[in-house]
Amino acid sequence: MGRIHLSPPDVGETEREALLRAFDSNWITPLGPEVDAFEAEICGFTGAHAAAALVSGTAALHLALILAEVGPGDEVWVSDLTFVAPVNAARYVGAELRFIDSEWATWNMDPDLLANELVSAAAADRLPKAVIAVDLYGQCAQLDRIAALCDQYGVCLIEDAAEALGATWQGRSAGTFGRYGAYSFNGNKIMTTGGGGMLVGPAEDMERARYLAAQARKPVLHYEHDEIGYNYRLSNLLAGLGRAQLGRLPAIVDRCHEINGEYRSALGSIEGIDFMPWDGRGRPSGWLTVMTVDTDALASAATPESICAHLAKQEIEARPAWKPMHAQKAFAGVPTIGGAVADQIFQTGVCLPSGSGLSETDQARVIASTLEALDPRSG
Ligand SMILES: *Cc1c(COP(=O)(O)O)cnc(C)c1O
Repeated sequence: MGRIHLSPPDVGETEREALLRAFDSNWITPLGPEVDAFEAEICGFTGAHAAAALVSGTAALHLALILAEVGPGDEVWVSDLTFVAPVNAARYVGAELRFIDSEWATWNMDPDLLANELVSAAAADRLPKAVIAVDLYGQCAQLDRIAALCDQYGVCLIEDAAEALGATWQGRSAGTFGRYGAYSFNGNKIMTTGGGGMLVGPAEDMERARYLAAQARKPVLHYEHDEIGYNYRLSNLLAGLGRAQLGRLPAIVDRCHEINGEYRSALGSIEGIDFMPWDGRGRPSGWLTVMTVDTDALASAATPESICAHLAKQEIEARPAWKPMHAQKAFAGVPTIGGAVADQIFQTGVCLPSGSGLSETDQARVIASTLEALDPRSG
């Protein structure tokens, strides 16, 4: 019995061929025809105006903040419940942070808390330079409301759609609601290039992003630099791999939905067990299925930790939900608006193996093992 991972890459012959195609045709050219095509295809898929293929989602967030001209002392407000990358990126540019708690409907940034905080900030003349709204576990935040609020106050909205490529909100693609959107192609994301990311936004800004990502080198023969740049461009080989993955993304998303549905039907009727709500106004990418455990309502003494431990013993990877940013030592003292919802999600959430390559047999193994962990008669 092999180990079952949380979200392993789902790659096969199509990806292998794409990689070899890029290798055979473009290895010796410094140009990136696969990169150009990958950017165009991401725009075609999401409806974004323009794109810049980069080495990671974190690099995309970093460049978005630079394009938004966020600098030392400026405030950036970020979802409290998130993977750390957007918060780190805000620190790279010297920004002051403020965390906004989740709401229950989507588990993402609470638009009401954001609205209230914007009112106070406007009155005190301390509006943020940017808001980074994260689409958690593949589900979009209430982006129509968040985008309207940011517009109203003239604040740059950056959408961190690293976990949500393939998702929509009110029919529109994740990543396209703010001025900038960031995607990740890390090995554990819904589609992968091994490592990579993409920034999307207005055409002139993406041109500048590509320039900054290539050491800010001026288009002249000698090496001319007027400002600081970064080495953030995605390699042509990996872009080839990304194109193959993107072609399969609709099928990958559908498979993730099947997996989610199977978990819900097998475990959802147990007293005390529930799942991350999927808000009907959007369609999540289904990147990870997150189960919630209400220990007071359970018939057994199981806890999220005991369930993860039981699964680990059977070579199944399961993890708690993201630990909120306000509870991280690295960000101690950062002002946080709310925080109780994020805390509760962290205390109750269990991410189950959800990779699109998960076989029915392997999912049955995960379910059986979870049922054992929940059985009042066991341990
Ligand atoms: C994975 C992730 C990122 C960062 O992407 P990398 O490609 O790993 O740098 C950013 N934000 C969120 C919410 C993520 O989950």
